[in-house]
Amino acid sequence: MKKVVILGGGFGGLAAIAHIRKQIKKKHVEVTLIDKNNYSLFTPMLPEVVSGNVKPDNIVLPLREICVKNSVRFVRDKVISVDKDNNCVICIENELKYDYLIVATGSKTNFRGNESAIENALQFKSITDAIDLKYLIIDHLEKASSMTSSDAKKSLLSFSVIGGGITGVELACEMNDFIKAKIKREYSNIGSEEYSINILEYYKTILPSIDESQAQKAQEAVVESGINIINNANVQEISKESIRFEQNGEQKILNSSITVWTAGVMGRDYLETISTNQTGDKRVFIEHELTPQGITDSNIFVIGDSCAYQYNEHILPPVAPLAMQQGIMAVINIVRNIDGKPKKDFNYFHFGYLVSLGKNNSVVNLFGLKLRGRFAYYVWKMLYLYKVGMFKKQIGVFFDWIMTSWFGNESVLIYDIEKAQMCRNTDKDSK
Ligand SMILES: Cc1cc2nc3c(=O)[nH]c(=O)nc-3n(C[C@H](O)[C@H](O)[C@H](O)COP(=O)(O)OP(=O)(O)OC[C@H]3O[C@@H](n4cnc5c(N)ncnc54)[C@H](O)[C@@H]3O)c2cc1C
Repeated sequence: MKKVVILGGGFGGLAAIAHIRKQIKKKHVEVTLIDKNNYSLFTPMLPEVVSGNVKPDNIVLPLREICVKNSVRFVRDKVISVDKDNNCVICIENELKYDYLIVATGSKTNFRGNESAIENALQFKSITDAIDLKYLIIDHLEKASSMTSSDAKKSLLSFSVIGGGITGVELACEMNDFIKAKIKREYSNIGSEEYSINILEYYKTILPSIDESQAQKAQEAVVESGINIINNANVQEISKESIRFEQNGEQKILNSSITVWTAGVMGRDYLETISTNQTGDKRVFIEHELTPQGITDSNIFVIGDSCAYQYNEHILPPVAPLAMQQGIMAVINIVRNIDGKPKKDFNYFHFGYLVSLGKNNSVVNLFGLKLRGRFAYYVWKMLYLYKVGMFKKQIGVFFDWIMTSWFGNESVLIYDIEKAQMCRNTDKDSK
């Protein structure tokens, strides 16, 4: 029986497991999943954890449960290198042999070498990042509510998101909805002009990866909701209280007591042991059959955010549908290889995009059909509810939405934010 090892139980890894199920039943392969966490995170709803629209538990899928159901062995461990010569994965605690390897360990935050950002900005990739941010915002609201000086309140309640891509925009909109509602109902000592949310974007509009006319409309809607967008901004230095950036040749300083960095991702360091043929952001260049470029007849498939896949002369951006489609294709090629057939080329099917702009507003493009506004918002909700993928989690998210739309979001501070951050790994670059 051939040993298939899958590294990472995110979008790509789970799609591979769902597709390889039949082969496991026929006892053609034995599959092991390795992940440093024992859950898989549904990232598109991560911004809603910050606003309290969804509970953290409802957007994580239990990997052990999924593995037991699919007769897959699960190992919770962190991969540190791959020994290609001996077909062996080296983890912190374990070493595992493989006949075929699917590499789907996603990406980490790309601070683009900005040391001040590594030091002072929060990242927004994991469930704990979202929980920390939620309680940090509540903590600032609590502190500001007992202040008398308007200037002191303004500087404590100045929040910034670096990067106006889909993640940054969705996050800023959720933060804005939450803070606006809380100030109106519970923090009456804080005026609506005493908090600010800024998005700093390098390009001339936010959402540079979507259709230009929709990006323009989205920018207008986000500004109308009260968020300050700073375009053509090249962020240079981030401190605990401010951001220094360059805009159209001018140096500017912006107050910011919480700065979140969402401006890009990069491949994980250990990918170098698989291939050094990588992009500047450390993603592995792959062939059309998903094996690392330049390695003939490889038994390693690199998928999702870990790979750089060239399509129509462009490297495709790291998104969940790409990882999922590649996960299925990696399995097809493994089975074909076992059967002695040649591997097939992967072809990406782009169905569009979905961007939430906060409560009752979204921009959506589905198979070329462009929608925005309230209807698009419900399309966004329904599609992502379906995509959560596990029935009990779908029910959980659905009831979270019902509860918050009936009773509003809570701002209870049930968490010692300083203690929690101290207990975590503070080495942001290795997360
Ligand atoms: C906040 C946020 C919002 C997003 N929103 C969207 C969206 O709306 N639509 C969209 O298409 N995409 C979105 N994305 C991008 C999307 O999440 C990724 O493109 C997708 O998750 C990539 O899938 P993957 O399988 O490559 O990696 P992931 O889904 O990230 O899975 C990687 C897995 O590998 C594990 N892992 C990592 N390193 C190691 C290691 N060394 N050893 C063992 N295990 C390891 C991780 O624990 C994780 O479970 C968003 C991303 C973020 C952060």
